Amino acid sequence: MLGRIIKSLSGFYDVIADDRIYICKASGKFRKDAFKPLVGDLCIFQIVNNTEGYITEIKERKNKLVRPPVSNIDQAILVFSCKEPDMNTLLLDRFLLEIEYHHIKPVIVITKTDLDDDGHIYKLMQPYIDASYPVYFTSSKEGNGIDAIKGLFKDKISIFTGQSGVGKSSLLNALDIHLNLETNEISKVLGRGKHTTRHTELLNMYDGYVADTPGFSSLELLIKPADLSITYHDFETLSAQCKYRGCLHDHEPDCAVKAAVEEGKLSKERYEHYLQFLKESKEKEERKYG
Ligand code: GDP
Ligand code: ZN
Repeated sequence: MLGRIIKSLSGFYDVIADDRIYICKASGKFRKDAFKPLVGDLCIFQIVNNTEGYITEIKERKNKLVRPPVSNIDQAILVFSCKEPDMNTLLLDRFLLEIEYHHIKPVIVITKTDLDDDGHIYKLMQPYIDASYPVYFTSSKEGNGIDAIKGLFKDKISIFTGQSGVGKSSLLNALDIHLNLETNEISKVLGRGKHTTRHTELLNMYDGYVADTPGFSSLELLIKPADLSITYHDFETLSAQCKYRGCLHDHEPDCAVKAAVEEGKLSKERYEHYLQFLKESKEKEERKYG
């Protein structure tokens, strides 16, 4: 049987197949940490009886994260408020790097649009829309833009990310999640639950799954300069036209990324953030290799 691991707890895995959950043990060959089954994995398992099974094979993973320990993540929902706290595009660009580096699709959700009295948030987000990032504008207070969010989850594994205070729990409440989630599960999605046992679980959310642990909360840039230069999907596309292979889009001549900035096709602010991350990444490499 082919199934999906949706929960892992003390050596037992909940595997869902044909809308049934089987509590499974894993074959001894998975005992080593590097091979341990992960929540999100597609696996082959033998049915032992109506409620139990035995995992024999893990299908190749599309990606995996350490925090949360989940594999095959389709999208990361990045929650940012336009005010209180103010929209922080530097932090957004950093999140986008980490997420695209792991081949996860970012979805940007802006909250609290009712606090934006001069429309500045739409201006601020235009470069991201131009770069074909999905951007959703919501107000949980006024109920605006919420229905569009409901359609994001179908047939996908999603993780939530965002600083505290940006309105994640208000958003989940506005999504009417109590239809699917228990209250304590909401607080888990937001990382507020006190876990006595460390475990991770995928929760049902509008015909898809969402990890009960938020992702990417402490951000240390682990991407090497060469990788960094092609991590943003639009930078990667442009890179093909840079004169030098491995162009870091910094001091190199005939750089398509710099040209795009000069032509106003790529936001200057995003490019400056990129240079800042590049510097950080280079410094880290130098420290590592002397
Ligand atoms: P979390 O820490 O990300 O879960 O944020 P919360 O959902 O707890 O919200 C933080 C604060 O922002 C609370 O005082 C909410 O009432 C407020 N808030 C959340 N969503 C909205 C919104 O759409 N509009 C306004 N004006 N305030 C909001
Ligand atoms: Zn370049």
